Formats: sequence, C-alpha cells, structure tokens
Amino acid sequence: MDNIENNIENNKLITEFVGNIIRDNIVYFPMLQECKVDELEYDSSYDWLMSVVDFIEELGSYSIMGKKLYSTVKFSRSNVEIYFSPNQDLQLHLQFITGKVNKNTWRHTMYKHHIIKQFDFKTHGKQRGLYEAIVEFIKWYNKNECLCKNPTIQKDTKQCGKCKLYINRVKHILLTQNNNHEK
Ligand SMILES: [Zn+2]
Repeated sequence: MDNIENNIENNKLITEFVGNIIRDNIVYFPMLQECKVDELEYDSSYDWLMSVVDFIEELGSYSIMGKKLYSTVKFSRSNVEIYFSPNQDLQLHLQFITGKVNKNTWRHTMYKHHIIKQFDFKTHGKQRGLYEAIVEFIKWYNKNECLCKNPTIQKDTKQCGKCKLYINRVKHILLTQNNNHEK
C-alpha cells in the first residue's frame, strides 16, 4: 500500500513546502549538506516529521492582545488534527479519524474548511497517520494560498480581492504597511 514511489513524491512535496529547493532530484537545504530525493526521511523518521510539524505551527502564528498563538498539530493513536489559522479566522481544521465518516455531522461553521478523512490507524500506525495528514495539509495549503503578484487586500476577510484566496499572515502585514506608507 505505502509504495515507495508515492513516498518519494510526498517527501518532495514536503521538502519544497518547508523551503528547500529540488533540482535534478537533488535536494538543497540551507546550511546543510544536500541529498538525493530518495534519501529524504519524512516518511520514516519522527525527527524529520517533527521538523515539519514545527514549521506548520510557526507558519500560522498570530497575536491576540500581545499573546502569540500558533497553529496546532495534534496527534494520537486514533486521531490527527491540524488547526491552521493564517489570518486568525481558523480556516482549516483537518482531521483524520478512525471509523466511518459522516461529513455533515462533523461540519462546523467556525471552519471554512473542515476536512475529515477516515483512516485506519491500527494498520498504519501513529507515525504514518501523521505523515499522511501532513501531506494532505500541504496539498490543501498549496491550493488555497493567494499567489497573485499584487494582491488586493480585503481588510475584514484578509482574502485577496482578485482571486479570493487567503493571503498569508506575513505577506498581509507587509502589504498593509506598504499601503499605509502610500497614504
Ligand atoms: Zn490573489
């Protein structure tokens, strides 16, 4: 089931997501030695996987009344949940659970995207569950981020006025500062 080619493709997706560069099947890490794409260990090493968890949690950090809050990746033997709030609006709650999934009963109005997937943790184990949840998250993220060169900010929703996708927190702050200088 967990075929090796898929793992390599997913590992490539992950390593590019955290900012590493792939050229001709070689991965270039900042300040580290390079490696081949089939030497990436996100699928087999908790250390590698946890560095991605840290990256995701930092990516969605935001402040409320001077307190810094982070996105959260929670995982247990039977459940993986990723709460991701790039713009303080709890955009995504991605959850992997055991047992039958009834999408309607799990949908919550608080979340724009509430993705629930059935997942057999008994067969695949906790580490595999976390790995697959992270891959799903990255696919979602890559599809939903505004990539416009000059996005127009919508103040209330923090979406891009052109493409309606979200503008990540860091970019949003920079764009808001630029607009203030112009006035
Ligand atoms: Zn856009």
